[in-house]
Amino acid sequence: MIKKDREKPLRLLAHEAAMRRIPKTHPKHPQIEKEFYRLHYGYKGEQAMDYFSSFLPHENYKVLHGLRIPDTKGRHFQMDSLLISPTHCLILDSKYVSGKMEFDEDTGSLIRHNETGQERLGDPFAQLARHKIQLSSIIQDLKLPRLPIYTQIVITHKNATLFKKSPIILKNVVFHTNLPTRIKEIDNIQTHTYFSNKDTNKLVKTLIKIHQDEDFNLMNHYGLLPTEFIRGVICPNCSHAPMHKTYQRWVCLNCKHIDRDLIKQTIKDYPLLGFGNTVTNRKFKEFICLHSSSISYKELQSLNLPQKGSKKARIYFIE
Ligand SMILES: [Zn+2]
Repeated sequence: MIKKDREKPLRLLAHEAAMRRIPKTHPKHPQIEKEFYRLHYGYKGEQAMDYFSSFLPHENYKVLHGLRIPDTKGRHFQMDSLLISPTHCLILDSKYVSGKMEFDEDTGSLIRHNETGQERLGDPFAQLARHKIQLSSIIQDLKLPRLPIYTQIVITHKNATLFKKSPIILKNVVFHTNLPTRIKEIDNIQTHTYFSNKDTNKLVKTLIKIHQDEDFNLMNHYGLLPTEFIRGVICPNCSHAPMHKTYQRWVCLNCKHIDRDLIKQTIKDYPLLGFGNTVTNRKFKEFICLHSSSISYKELQSLNLPQKGSKKARIYFIE
């Protein structure tokens, strides 16, 4: 049973907004674009893994996706998926990478071989070993029985091959299509039930309670200025900005596209880019590129945002 669904991470949403609003000619565009693709494909891989991790051997599994929690010493760590059964826990780490993959057992790192040489892609083994210790300390802290914790690296790209397969690698790395079989294999070797229903519920409840979404401010992260972003309503047809507001409609001066309700979508970019979760009429007018304060006020009111204060000091909260 899924106890926590996967949500698109804030970091990815922010990079999606940046891809719309950082000009292609900006010197930091290549760096932001590279990170966008890394996050985009990472999320795509996790979603692919979710499908295969839903084939479970029995009903007694609780599944939590995309957990980000502090360990007993306050250090946050992220698990792509966590499966909890009465006999054991299983942490899954998705790797959406294509090409010839090699796992270096000495350093715990993942290496991709390509025509130009090799590229190191982090150290998933070492990371999973840490996560196992961190999860174990949380379970201990809750005075719950110590149960075995397993980890699996799940390769989620269909064009990936494993290079130099050792017994350790074969035991710890699985292709996502084989994940149901691997989950069953791990389940089959269990001989002892550690967790009662009450224990499982206590752990699940605690993990959900201590889960914290990552805080991410794109503008600060890349050292960008508010003036460096493309402003205004972006044309859904040709990506030109800003669109102009005339007679209750948004008009694109580039392709002549006409649209009505674009403001709701547009204002979502404001907090995502790091401008903050509140806006005043003056800031809103600047961001949407409107010339008149009264039109800006009308647009802002139409969004029905929670608000505080009066007149010029009024602030609006963007969810
Ligand atoms: Zn257009």
